[in-house]
Amino acid sequence: RHNSQGDANFLEDETTKNFAQKVADHYSARSNQTLEEREASPIIHLKKLNNWIKSVLIQLYARRGDAVLDLACGKGGDLIKWDKAKIGYYVGIDIADGSIKDCRTRYNGDADHHQRRKKFSFPARLMCGDCYEVRLDKVLADDAPFDICSCQFALHYSWSTEARARRALANVSALLRPGGIFIGTMPDANVIIKKLREAEGLTFGNSVYWIRFDEEFSDKKFKSSSPFGTKYTFHLEDAVDCPEWIVPFDVFKSLAEEYDFELVFAKNSHEFVHEYMKRPEFVELMRRLGALGDGNQDQGTLSADEWEAAYLYMSFVLRKRGQPDKN
Ligand code: SAM
Repeated sequence: RHNSQGDANFLEDETTKNFAQKVADHYSARSNQTLEEREASPIIHLKKLNNWIKSVLIQLYARRGDAVLDLACGKGGDLIKWDKAKIGYYVGIDIADGSIKDCRTRYNGDADHHQRRKKFSFPARLMCGDCYEVRLDKVLADDAPFDICSCQFALHYSWSTEARARRALANVSALLRPGGIFIGTMPDANVIIKKLREAEGLTFGNSVYWIRFDEEFSDKKFKSSSPFGTKYTFHLEDAVDCPEWIVPFDVFKSLAEEYDFELVFAKNSHEFVHEYMKRPEFVELMRRLGALGDGNQDQGTLSADEWEAAYLYMSFVLRKRGQPDKN
């Protein structure tokens, strides 16, 4: 016979697994786009802007020869960015087996004839797995320690339960060397909650995205509720349709401190653009990526709706405490 507590735990666990599976299925089902399809996307400039943000983070923190852990690496969209940073080793893990297959193809460089480029100069290990469930310190014992860990547009999928959020941080903390860097981009909870409170109902958005909170959050206060498991549905045109979870930044920061991280910085994407567009090398990178165009309100610029969608995200940099070995 089960007691009620046991049943509740069992149910919670199954639901969590179902949601993780839903996220995996969603990303697995998204096939690789051709260059033409990509350029025709209604969020092409937003995608380019997000690539710029990730490139800037990588250029700021990656060093030649670094061992890199890419959590939720997806189809390997950042492989070229890491190659430019001349890293020495790369491990990529994602829950979606379809994405890992695409990532392998991209790394091996044999299928996409658009991408006639030289082989990547670093060895890589690509694996399918749930980064917020599995003890990665055991799986990757022979690959550790890593100099830098990146989790781009994915850490919020760990916030469905406290156990998963803790597993995510424990994994990164156990695998990074002292002084190692953890970079990431995730939804900005402050912006999302503010927009929810300004909205009439539980849904808000524009022509490129919408967010819908579950009925249980209709008081919009979140005061008494747990900081984990605040679920909403996120739809981004031509990109995402998934259950996601709010990551309250103050809770994230203090949880990260428990796992020996100190905050280097956290910036909303708008602020990030403002800050790093002061540096000529990043202006040039933005020009090459074609994200903000030449500043005229034309095709080369993000639409107002894309710019508002960019505002939903923030980037963070954490440093693992301790001094790096001197050799
Ligand atoms: N980081 C990649 C990038 O920036 O191009 C992919 C970002 S995509 C928006 C989110 C990724 O998170 C998907 O590839 C998805 O499969 C992955 N993901 C979600 N939950 C995960 C989990 N529990 N473990 C590993 N990967 C996960």
